[in-house]
Amino acid sequence: MSDLLKGKRGLIMGVANDRSIAWGIAKAMHEAGAELAFTYQGEAFGKRLEPLAASIGSDFMVDTDVTDDASLDRAFSELAARWPTIDFLVHAIAFSDKSELTGRFLNTSRANFKNSMDISVYSFIEVARRAHPMMKENGGSLITLTYQGSNRVVPSYNVMGVAKAALESATRYLANDLGPDGIRVNAVSPGPMKTLAGAAIGGARKTYKFCDQNAPMRSNATLEAVGGTAVYLASDAGICTTGEIIRVDGGFHVLGMPQPDHM
Ligand code: NAD
Repeated sequence: MSDLLKGKRGLIMGVANDRSIAWGIAKAMHEAGAELAFTYQGEAFGKRLEPLAASIGSDFMVDTDVTDDASLDRAFSELAARWPTIDFLVHAIAFSDKSELTGRFLNTSRANFKNSMDISVYSFIEVARRAHPMMKENGGSLITLTYQGSNRVVPSYNVMGVAKAALESATRYLANDLGPDGIRVNAVSPGPMKTLAGAAIGGARKTYKFCDQNAPMRSNATLEAVGGTAVYLASDAGICTTGEIIRVDGGFHVLGMPQPDHM
């Protein structure tokens, strides 16, 4: 990758392992010249992240639970102590109880609805508010991850579809609030990917195969493809793009029918 992010630094939130979308983005951003800091959720993920971060020259990692204000405060104050300003932030975080990522949406529980919305949507608002003072002098780019289950029914995606619809709306509202300070807010929307979160969704393997066989490109998104899009959004090449949902799904979203061989 070129030097699109040379001289820029940012925070990556949501690496669980080397198959995480956040890790694909981190690698692409590092190759484009960026300096990176990371948050992770809990000790076990921290142990997995450590060698990955080291492999791209980063030693800045903070344990952060996005449902806990004190944890977020600590992460951002540690980050600000090291880097008073950042140029971009990647929010690649979502959660729903696995037992509700199958069966009928009708059976969504109040507790899981609230928790899914808190972790998968509200946390983006919390991190945007905390990143704002670190970006407002020079502008910046906030990037979140969504999925087309937000505006189409994807069986089993259930409450996460509602959460992604809210996340996409939050992306537009944040874009409008932060635009005057030169801060852009966008969402990348990959097709199904083989990650920990992706595997929790009922029928994940079939969905993955179906998209691979039927997308116009006849392939699913790769970590490299999602990474490349995030590099564009974080770079000055994306300087006038905000409030956007950018699909990285081999064109799957344009289909009205499966390909003839796969009906
Ligand atoms: P992943 O499991 O690798 O990453 C999810 C991350 O969310 C993990 O690092 C986990 O630690 C973090 N997380 C969950 N609850 C948290 C909390 N309370 N505090 C802090 N972190 C928390 O899976 P992924 O597929 O890379 O997911 C990243 C993003 O991409 C999610 O928003 C997901 O919805 C989105 N996405 C995934 C796919 C897919 O098919 N995998 C497709 C489109 C969008």
